[in-house]
Amino acid sequence: MIRVVLVGAAGRMGRAVEAAAAAAGDVEIVARVDVPANHVPGAGLWSEDTASVAGRGDVVVDFSTPRGARDAAAACASKGVALVSGSTGLGPEDEATVRAAAQRVAVLRASNFSLGIAALRLALRTALSAVPVSWDVEIVERHHKLKKDSPSGTALALSDEVREARSLPGSALRHGRQGMAGPRPAGEVGVHSVRGGSWVGDHQVLLAGEGEWLELRHVAQDRAAFAQGALAAARFVTTAGPGWYTMEDMLRAPGRAAR
Ligand code: NAD
Repeated sequence: MIRVVLVGAAGRMGRAVEAAAAAAGDVEIVARVDVPANHVPGAGLWSEDTASVAGRGDVVVDFSTPRGARDAAAACASKGVALVSGSTGLGPEDEATVRAAAQRVAVLRASNFSLGIAALRLALRTALSAVPVSWDVEIVERHHKLKKDSPSGTALALSDEVREARSLPGSALRHGRQGMAGPRPAGEVGVHSVRGGSWVGDHQVLLAGEGEWLELRHVAQDRAAFAQGALAAARFVTTAGPGWYTMEDMLRAPGRAAR
């Protein structure tokens, strides 16, 4: 059994991980961390402090907030417990704390744990190497109306793929357009966030040439897609040494346990 400490346990993703773990058979949630108002009486051990319960697990799985991710990373580093983190919207200090934990324990961080997005990233790299650099790239993402950060962490990861492939600086990102924006400059990567309803996660990458365009799109219909990937990541990090890992590392691992 893999013992998991679940951070953000009462949230939408926390509940999806809980359900996936119950169905998996090889994963046990041994402690849950959330703000006190969201603790569920009678449903196992709850805490508001990851540091006080991290040592009970083999791995901490975090889907909470930037603060929750930072506290989870610090707790994992001090207790020697692996970390799987999916929280998005992290600031530089949060990122630095999560990165620092990877010097002491195995850390797998991903802005999107679905296998379909991992495949989309590979497909995007191939498409970018095949079309002329003059083709314009625009990313459109849609999420539910309660999402806190914009653009999504996944849209930023996809824009990183484009910038890396084309050696573009961070300033190449164009977040929406308004007013007399004028003709589209070359070397821009447009990123557009749509918010509403209950969309779980929809990412489109549009590559537009003269007289033709290509669209790569992934739609997450259910959070179960992320939860399954997070459990596969939990299995992976519990067998890995200290270091920084990505979804691709997990997918490439021999005999990976993704289900
Ligand atoms: P949510 O708001 O439904 O849940 C977040 C939970 O975290 C809440 O229960 C909240 O009370 C709790 N929380 C707040 N502060 C905390 C703290 N300091 N410590 C512990 N818990 C705390 O949000 P959600 O939709 O479940 O998403 C959670 C995070 O995961 C977001 O950052 C979201 O963008 C991200 N996310 C990532 C993926 C992925 O695949 N990487 C997929 C979906 C969502």
